[in-house]
Amino acid sequence: MSPVLKISGLHKSFGDLEVLKGIDLDMEKGDVVSLIGSSGSGKTTLLRCVNMLEDFEGGTIEISGKQIGYLTENGQRRRLPEREIARQRAMTGMAFQQFNLFPHMTALKNVTLGLIKTKKFSRDEAISIAETWLERVGMRERKDHYPGQLSGGQQQRVAIARAIAMNPELMLFDEVTSALDPELVKEVLAVVRDLASDGMTMLLVTHEMRFARDVSTKVVFMHHGRIHEQGPPEQIFGAPQSDRLVAFLADSD
Ligand code: ADP
Repeated sequence: MSPVLKISGLHKSFGDLEVLKGIDLDMEKGDVVSLIGSSGSGKTTLLRCVNMLEDFEGGTIEISGKQIGYLTENGQRRRLPEREIARQRAMTGMAFQQFNLFPHMTALKNVTLGLIKTKKFSRDEAISIAETWLERVGMRERKDHYPGQLSGGQQQRVAIARAIAMNPELMLFDEVTSALDPELVKEVLAVVRDLASDGMTMLLVTHEMRFARDVSTKVVFMHHGRIHEQGPPEQIFGAPQSDRLVAFLADSD
């Protein structure tokens, strides 16, 4: 069986600034991989390349054996048409720092929209799926609230339900707790932890080291656009090999 995610030799620049300098990363079904590292090391950019929110110049990304974003034929690489990329994007679900809910739609409508428009479920089916996921993140009782009537933590839980309801092969979490007040961080991390323990394949960027240690099957430490060190959480946090990782962990306490 193909790995859920296979990144090979990924290179990405913004103008003259090379942000990803050859990333290789594989994930199997059920893996929970946390990307850690200093600000600017390329973690978010890596996540954004996986669902083609960013184009990239070199290397390949495959999800369940399917190459994402580009086609290579006779040594020539070409970007796929936008419609095809949009279709591929549905293979991943993404939750962002800033939730990105539609403000003029209720929590329920935020979740059913993609199910009806993209997945072509009937309205009743979509509502049933959405209610199941809202229940799972503890938001079913507030399904008729608008984002403006919800706390940041509640909005983030709706955003996570919205992404997961689409049944992606891989969930991407980009610092989903950084915009939240400290007392709201826990409720969102509890949701992510619950999904992880259920076997969902996840790639996440986080500053919450204790959380990364608890929830991950693998932790990847990035530095200046490269994977500097990676391994099981016990090794990365318990027996870091490189001085850079030791220094980073000391700073993150
Ligand atoms: P991290 O998530 O590890 O903090 P990022 O992936 O956000 O790192 O950023 C990596 C580098 O790429 C940084 O130097 C950042 O300033 C730069 N960068 C990110 N996005 C853009 C962009 N859209 N345009 C130009 N530079 C960018």
